[in-house]
Amino acid sequence: MSETATEPRVISALVEAPSAAARASATLHLDHPTYDRSLDCVHCGLCLPACPTYTQNGREADSPRGRIYLMKGLADGKIEPTASVVEHLDLCLDCRACETACPSGVVYHELIEETRAQLDRDRQPGIVDRLVNAMFFHVFPHPRRLKLAVAPVRLMQKIGLWRVLTQGPWRRLLPAQLEKMQQMLPTEGALWESTLDEIYPADAPDGVKKGTVGFFAGCVGSVMFQHVNRQTIALLQRAGCDVVVPRTQQCCGAIHHHAGRVASAEMFAKLNIDVFTPASGGTEVDWIVNNIAGCGAMLKDFAHLLRHDPKYADRAAEFNRRVRDISELLVELDMAPPTNPIEQTVTYHDACHLAHAQKVTDPPRRLLASIPGLTVIPLPESDMCCGAAGTYNLAHPKMARDLAERKIGHIQKTGVRRCVTANVGCAMQIQSEAERMGVDLEVSHPVTLLHEACFGQ
Ligand code: SF4
Ligand code: SF4
Repeated sequence: MSETATEPRVISALVEAPSAAARASATLHLDHPTYDRSLDCVHCGLCLPACPTYTQNGREADSPRGRIYLMKGLADGKIEPTASVVEHLDLCLDCRACETACPSGVVYHELIEETRAQLDRDRQPGIVDRLVNAMFFHVFPHPRRLKLAVAPVRLMQKIGLWRVLTQGPWRRLLPAQLEKMQQMLPTEGALWESTLDEIYPADAPDGVKKGTVGFFAGCVGSVMFQHVNRQTIALLQRAGCDVVVPRTQQCCGAIHHHAGRVASAEMFAKLNIDVFTPASGGTEVDWIVNNIAGCGAMLKDFAHLLRHDPKYADRAAEFNRRVRDISELLVELDMAPPTNPIEQTVTYHDACHLAHAQKVTDPPRRLLASIPGLTVIPLPESDMCCGAAGTYNLAHPKMARDLAERKIGHIQKTGVRRCVTANVGCAMQIQSEAERMGVDLEVSHPVTLLHEACFGQ
């Protein structure tokens, strides 16, 4: 289909006639399948109402259709990567809501991630960005380093000093990104989170063993949300699974991949494939299970990431076939329903990387519906991004805050005081923004409610 008939008008204002030299240096080199996917876009605009950034500011250049036009223009050498163009691409949350809405099957995330990877090569970050990047790329993916970084904060939280430091007027001295980081830190947790055991035996009420799970604990998850990991393992045991937690497992690489650091993401993917498959001496498992939507989406994307690697392409595809979100596997295994009632009313927020990236929307709802006494009120725009999106809320605090306020406004309309979501990033974003807004709200993982309903408090 010709693009000229439906060319988004607003975009043309961004297009500057590039010089021949600029054109040569600016042209992106998207690989052929990825570039061809941009041609699948017929500019129908059906994705626009699903896009959080377009919904907030109404700008075509901040819509999926507009961004595809920009990326194709960059790849064709017709558009220069000016600050304005890069800003519109940066403002994308990579939430993939447009993929769910698109009738033409445009695989948007491959386009934006590959474009970002190429644009990021030439960036020169400032000092604060370097500091934040150091945290994200050299601390977060390493649970031991993260524990070391979090331990002094935990100590200050326990003796009350953290509140004094972060609530006083001097908090304004912190750069916005660091202030946001401290706001999102969960206020409860062990000073030094203990490591999980390596093996947990199946323990189903009927004694039937269903298989072996390799549990992917996640970096942030295993430091900030280890209690959810323990609850997840207990549920898997109850569902009849032996659970193996390999100590050598690594970060999923999502932080790097979303930031365009493809080589690091590929390295983490290969290390994890080695750990969870027997070909390189790893563990033989039936399923690889995680409880964090962002990690799960990345694990399920290894086959695409390593599609050109002759040694790993097939193994990555096999790895992908075994990856499950915890909710998927518990439903698949038909775990015995819980028996302890929870007399509460809650609502459910779909994490983007579960609903749009993994297309998992029904299993968590079915598990919540199996809890006696629990009422789940539908949340308007439940699958619209809350503004967390990995490191997005640090890079784009205004848009992230606007989206969080929109989300929390919808939650308030349901009248509930507890919101359930299956992603640690969403949980930290919604919880911290609710506190900032003075809204009385508890955010929980579905696993936490299910665990309580299966085993009691
Ligand atoms: S990924 Fe999300 S923010 Fe980005 S264009 Fe698609 S819907 Fe909009
Ligand atoms: S819905 Fe799909 S085809 Fe239509 S404008 Fe959006 S990305 Fe393009």
